[in-house]
Amino acid sequence: MGKTMKAMILKQITALSKNSTPLELIDMDKPIPKSGEILVKVSVCGVCHTELDEIEGRTPPASFPRVLGHQVVGVVEELGDGAVRFKKGDRVGVAWIYSSCGECRYCVEGNDNLCEKFKATGRDADGGYAEYMTVSEHFAYRIPETFADSEAAPLLCAGAIGYRSLRLSKIQDGQNLGLTGFGASGHLVIKMARHMFPGSDIYVFARSEQERDFALELGAVWAGKTEDTPPQKLDTVIDTTPVWKPVVEALKNLNTGGRLVINAIRKEEVDKDYLLNLNYHRDMWMEKEIKSVANVSRKDVSEFLQLASEIGLQPEIQEYSLKDANRALIELKEGNLKGAKVLVINN
Ligand SMILES: [Zn+2]
Ligand SMILES: [Zn+2]
Repeated sequence: MGKTMKAMILKQITALSKNSTPLELIDMDKPIPKSGEILVKVSVCGVCHTELDEIEGRTPPASFPRVLGHQVVGVVEELGDGAVRFKKGDRVGVAWIYSSCGECRYCVEGNDNLCEKFKATGRDADGGYAEYMTVSEHFAYRIPETFADSEAAPLLCAGAIGYRSLRLSKIQDGQNLGLTGFGASGHLVIKMARHMFPGSDIYVFARSEQERDFALELGAVWAGKTEDTPPQKLDTVIDTTPVWKPVVEALKNLNTGGRLVINAIRKEEVDKDYLLNLNYHRDMWMEKEIKSVANVSRKDVSEFLQLASEIGLQPEIQEYSLKDANRALIELKEGNLKGAKVLVINN
């Protein structure tokens, strides 16, 4: 067994508009599982918009070089001392939550996503854009048999955080749901919402025609551009975009007492001026609410994987090789996507 592995690493923060190959393919030392950890031989790793935020420094890695990637599916290859939850050969997943303190008020309540000592996979510790990674056995999940490795990967972030967003939206069956942005999370949320809230109509706002057509194919009753006015007011809107215009437009379309849930780790500065269009009376009066979604808890990931398996959620995926990670990231940045992008690493 070799002592090195292939990995795509980020050496420094860089602007993708100037550098289309931010990651570098190298041979590096294969990690060794510490006490309580498992060594995972990575099969696939999903590509997430958050990687763009890490590369461009909106949520920068804790140190460099860093192996990105937090939607990891693989097989347990070695157990660290005292690790007992899994056996060698078990298939596991690793999500955005890499570790938390386990003792604070938030951890104790099951909101470990809000822990002050929250560490993120592929940002604060090396993640899955590599042949191997290590993680605490308590932050790995069994993957239901119904999913192929590539199908399971996007469930671990886009799916799980989509599930948390739907929970925080407090939508009830029959209420109108809006989705603004229709990437990896949006297309899973629409499938989940149609199952959990069959009486609700879903309205999708997306910048590309391809995304709008895809939304209609997946059961949206209406799809328009970000600034279009839907035929009905919306009781809740989930925003998965990295910009500000959809926030103002969504508030405008909210019903009395409606709630906007923002599922984005960072907002970009590019169109921040659009906030000046905010009209208090039209967009916020009548008890409209805004709530953000932060990270994802272990409970969300576990519950969501179970739900996804029960309802036969099948993410649409596009596969790339590990060395093509840069191309996958640039295509994601350009918004040219149909479903979720996945790097196939060991197969
Ligand atoms: Zn993610
Ligand atoms: Zn904590």
